[in-house]
Amino acid sequence: MKMRIVRMVALSLVLGLLLASMPNGWQAVGQDVTKPQLVQHPWESPSVALSFLQKMQAQNGNAFVLQAELDDMIAPNGGGACATAAGVDALQTIRYMSGLETTLNPYRLACSAISQQPELLKGRVTNASFVRLIKTGQAHLCGLTVDIDVHSAPNSVHDDAKRFWSETDGPNVTIAPRQVKVLSYTVTEANGTVLGRHFVLLKDFKKNEITVIDPHSPVKDRRYILELKAKAADTPSRVFLLNPAGTPLRTSTYELNTVFTITLVSKLAALHPEQRSDVSVEYVKHQIAETAKLLKGRKDYTSPTAWRELTAHFGLPGLDIPIKNGGAGWNAVKTMEVFRYAGEHNLNFRDIVGGAHARALLHSTDPKVLEIVRQVASGKGYVAIAITEPTAGSDVAAIKATATKVDGGYRLTGTKKFNARLGQATHLILFTQGTTGVPGKLSVFVVPIDTPGLKIEELTAHGLTGNSFGGVSFTDLFVPESQLIGTDGEGLRVFFNHFLYWRLMQTAAAIGTGQNALKQMADRIEKREAFGAPIGRFTHLQQPIGQYTTQLNMAYALAKEAAEMIDRGDYQGARAIICGLKAEGVEISLLAVDAAMRAFGGEGYSTEVDLGDRLKDLLGLRIADGTTDVMRMDVVRHVYGDKFWRMAVQPKE
Ligand SMILES: Cc1cc2nc3c(=O)[nH]c(=O)nc-3n(C[C@H](O)[C@H](O)[C@H](O)COP(=O)(O)OP(=O)(O)OC[C@H]3O[C@@H](n4cnc5c(N)ncnc54)[C@H](O)[C@@H]3O)c2cc1C
Repeated sequence: MKMRIVRMVALSLVLGLLLASMPNGWQAVGQDVTKPQLVQHPWESPSVALSFLQKMQAQNGNAFVLQAELDDMIAPNGGGACATAAGVDALQTIRYMSGLETTLNPYRLACSAISQQPELLKGRVTNASFVRLIKTGQAHLCGLTVDIDVHSAPNSVHDDAKRFWSETDGPNVTIAPRQVKVLSYTVTEANGTVLGRHFVLLKDFKKNEITVIDPHSPVKDRRYILELKAKAADTPSRVFLLNPAGTPLRTSTYELNTVFTITLVSKLAALHPEQRSDVSVEYVKHQIAETAKLLKGRKDYTSPTAWRELTAHFGLPGLDIPIKNGGAGWNAVKTMEVFRYAGEHNLNFRDIVGGAHARALLHSTDPKVLEIVRQVASGKGYVAIAITEPTAGSDVAAIKATATKVDGGYRLTGTKKFNARLGQATHLILFTQGTTGVPGKLSVFVVPIDTPGLKIEELTAHGLTGNSFGGVSFTDLFVPESQLIGTDGEGLRVFFNHFLYWRLMQTAAAIGTGQNALKQMADRIEKREAFGAPIGRFTHLQQPIGQYTTQLNMAYALAKEAAEMIDRGDYQGARAIICGLKAEGVEISLLAVDAAMRAFGGEGYSTEVDLGDRLKDLLGLRIADGTTDVMRMDVVRHVYGDKFWRMAVQPKE
């Protein structure tokens, strides 16, 4: 408090003139004259958090609990349910600020609060009850804890603890990171009838004006001017909420009664697995940005294994691995946004998110195989997959590698080529023909990469250089029965399920790469001058930005639809959409990056900007995981009938 007074004195000279011109007596009360504190994550600011939640509420209606939806539960004469709604909405804000995903159904928080505190249903919520609501609500914060501080007006009859704010300083309504303030004010009608207290969330405080979110209609901001009525003979100082100039006058009086300050005490640091599943997409994206800053300019910048080790503490390598296997258990919709964001940084980051090819191992029930998945989730393992051979790629069923059943396992023979990750992986998934004797009934095995008998060959790739590119051969390689994934002969099923998901995530990464190129392009054409003015005036340079921005957005909207289908387990329904997206998402991104590179002229052809590398990366992704041509054929096959596929691939009788 002393500090605050000293600071106020020091600044009073500077602010004197400004404050003197204020229309009320707010000068002495709760000045926001300090510089904003350093906000570690942008969303730790209550203003940012509440703005985000308002947007979410407007879009999906699931960010806040509305007072009106609880009002009917409150006893007659109990007033409204604003206190319970504001308390739950404050907890939702705290979740977001802490980096946890918001609760999609905040009404569950409200039900839980009411079941633990039935007195909330009586209305007229006391300060003690409100504090209890927040304290018990901590159970929904994944182990994080909050403190709650209560300060009331000197004339408040609601504060049993008698913690009143200072007559001279007034209430502290400043905004601070990791803090949510709930204000309660008493509403009194013109005839003197006291209607009760209303509870709102403080979103912002500037000069003498507060912006609050009212649980009655939380999408809209409400603004009030704080007016201090100084202490007179035997009446204490009082703080009123006035409507700002230009807004309709109201006849009732709003008098500030209590300020509840809820402070997030603990941080998401080394996350427990249950927190990993609950962290928000925004939190993960922020951590990726921080890690990218850390590695920028270093050789490790595009190394998937360096990334996996460094990011395990917040769960990135296990994001889409089930919780029971050591991962965060994220669904496809959420994971996909992280892939898109990773691709914005660098298409090599397509390999830093989630379990990647380790997810194919989830078809096994063998504890040792599932242990590999766990290693991947913890950032220690990395899995390569070898299907393509010198003579078969798109035609997966035509691979020549064989498996022969022997005592206790199988002996594998074959040669794989054009496979990524062999130089970094800890384990390798190998596809062979199965032992059923039916061509195309494939089998899948997993082996440690250092298994004697695996001969790895290196090739040099043009792009996606964060990973190695090469091949592997093996002759009579013994693999124990337990390392067969799924059953002998069901390899194509493993392949399709796994690659459908993987293609969708790769598309998202490609979309991110394209989007970032367009941002670079917009910046370039605004700043670069030719013939006396910015090159952005040449509208042909604006056209591709408009065109590809929309096309990429369209692709991403469709990708979300496909991700929802995957989350519902509808792989068959999603197949044509995902194959189409793998083709078109990559192709649009290629066009976007190409356009951006041209807008950079000579610089675009140099390594001073990364667009040339991204172009080469995308040329690789156009082939990897299914070529554009084959993906388009697959769309026709699944939308218009298998006859078209047969027409294309079956030799004429
Ligand atoms: C960067 C990169 C990473 C890769 N990583 C891996 C990996 O980790 N593991 C792995 O096993 N493989 C990997 N591959 C290999 C990749 O999966 C294959 O190259 C791809 O499936 C194509 O097979 P292919 O090279 O044999 O080409 P082919 O199948 O011989 O195709 C040659 C051309 O014919 C076209 N074509 C073929 N069939 C059809 C059809 N039915 N309709 C229309 N057009 C057709 C293709 O589009 C292509 O243009 C990777 C490739 C790249 C470039």
